[in-house]
Amino acid sequence: MCVFSSASFDQHELVAFTEDAKSGLRAIIAVHNSSLGPAVGGCRMYPYANDADALEDVLRLSRGMTYKSALAGLPMGGGKAVIIGDPATLKTPELLQAMGRFIDQQGGKYITAEDSGTCVADLKIMSSQTKFVTGINEAQSFGGDPSPLTAYGVYCGIKSALQFARGDAQLKQVSVAVQGAGAVGRYLIKHLIDDGAQVYVADIKADNLRKAVELGATAMSTDEILAADVDILAPCAMGAVLNSQSIPKLRASIVAGAANNQLATIEDGALLQQRGILYAPDFVISAGGIIEIFHQNSGTMERSREHIAKIGDTLTQIFEQSTAQQLPTVRVAEQMAESLFEKAAVSNAA
Ligand code: NAD
Repeated sequence: MCVFSSASFDQHELVAFTEDAKSGLRAIIAVHNSSLGPAVGGCRMYPYANDADALEDVLRLSRGMTYKSALAGLPMGGGKAVIIGDPATLKTPELLQAMGRFIDQQGGKYITAEDSGTCVADLKIMSSQTKFVTGINEAQSFGGDPSPLTAYGVYCGIKSALQFARGDAQLKQVSVAVQGAGAVGRYLIKHLIDDGAQVYVADIKADNLRKAVELGATAMSTDEILAADVDILAPCAMGAVLNSQSIPKLRASIVAGAANNQLATIEDGALLQQRGILYAPDFVISAGGIIEIFHQNSGTMERSREHIAKIGDTLTQIFEQSTAQQLPTVRVAEQMAESLFEKAAVSNAA
């Protein structure tokens, strides 16, 4: 496994590996860029098919966090951790304590949070070994699962995309296809239905699909959802769903959803633009959770929601610049973030 030649390596500041025979922990921490502040990002536990897949994932996700935090206006850099293994069978207190010690060894360059395969209870076990854990602050009136506020950010982003594309942000009689009715998808569906949208949903888990239908969404098959004949597609399941096979078949004119790494390659951003599809870059629209985590330490729910609502303003800026410069929205968003952390790096060095 070679880090520097990995497809997703992008001048990461730190990549650390650990193996703890006693607890069975095998994990990687990656810090992409800490110019704007300490690198914050979730700790994912997943049964990767091989070590190279785990490395790719942590490199890609940590880079995404740098861009996400920068465009959310947070004084934080981008990092991520992955634990290799099935959380259902391998997750033990001993393994989580060993992970806490591994995080502590990085001396605060990386601060962890929850992600798929880990939860607040797991983070609390890690925090017995390290202070570099966030998103567990019970002293606040909010905290814990960031999904509701991630969904709120996506809802704000959808409204800003509608305003830009149609000059009207109202969701009444707008049709939306939601791929994935998990933690985020379900809260998003509730917002959309409350506003009068017509929502279609697909999920590979029958139970999650049923809950979404109970909210008022119409079930659709997982094969049909991406190409559904709707106004808006909201990917809220897995990454890489926007690719050279799926993009030519899309019928929605707006793509705006929570899933991380929706574009299979950066060129797919240009493909969407060529097809006249307005794409809300995932690392901008899905920042609600990380904004909430930031405010858990010092803020209030109101300040958190106000900050999250600004996702819509950032997207409007990106859409306008994309039109003015004839560049894909994802490229515009990356440039905006890069200029922020390059400026910070210069002032840090001075
Ligand atoms: P989740 O695991 O709770 O939900 C994902 C849902 O997608 C599940 O119900 C799953 O069955 C379904 N799914 C998986 N493959 C599918 C397919 N091919 N077709 C249809 N449905 C499928 O995850 P979540 O927390 O809701 O996160 C959703 C996405 O948003 C992920 O990509 C995640 O990385 C991203 N995200 C989440 C947060 C957060 O706060 N939870 C924050 C930022 C980004």
